[in-house]
Amino acid sequence: MTVPIRAAEFLASHSLTSEAVVGRRLGSASGACSIMKIRVQDLEIRKLEFEHQFQPGEIDLGSEVRQVGLLATDGRAELIREHHGGRETIDDIRLVGKFAGQIEVSCARCLEPVVIPVSRSFDLLYRPSESAERTDEVAINEADTEIGYYSGGGMELEDSLREQILLAVPIKALCRYDCKGLCPVCGVNRNEQLCDCKQSVPDPRWATLGDLKSKLQ
Ligand SMILES: [Zn+2]
Ligand SMILES: [Zn+2]
Repeated sequence: MTVPIRAAEFLASHSLTSEAVVGRRLGSASGACSIMKIRVQDLEIRKLEFEHQFQPGEIDLGSEVRQVGLLATDGRAELIREHHGGRETIDDIRLVGKFAGQIEVSCARCLEPVVIPVSRSFDLLYRPSESAERTDEVAINEADTEIGYYSGGGMELEDSLREQILLAVPIKALCRYDCKGLCPVCGVNRNEQLCDCKQSVPDPRWATLGDLKSKLQ
């Protein structure tokens, strides 16, 4: 029976006084400070329950996606020990949780900012990267669990969240369903103003060809 640990307690027990923790924070892949490190050695003792609100910028979402307001997440991380005959075991980290927040992207037609709500629940399994080359030997017990890899004895919660948030972003966001977009000639936002640019008016004689073309696309 494992005793869950609250995130606040977890963070408090990993205060900056430990040199090892400071080193890892500075060495984080994204360059940002580590907010929640999930370590196998901690999970061996008990599972980790987390509940956190990320400020915009704490999770690096790249240049095209911006977080608006707080992004709330909660869930748990636990150790799944796979036995492979004899003494061989593989320590997997299972991360189960959800997040909800708002992000801002550019409208695919007029490039104006669009704020969209994003939320998702996830159930992810991370294997040590050293086991990657023997993956074919490893049976996946839970079919609906996605597989990732961790290295260095653990992983950052932010890294998983980044992936999950970006997966939740629609490929093409529109500021409104009938966005008129930018004028291809002068570049004005046609939702806001009209321009006198000559738009190519389709010749009715070519209409059939146009239909055919759209069918082929
Ligand atoms: Zn638009
Ligand atoms: Zn124009």
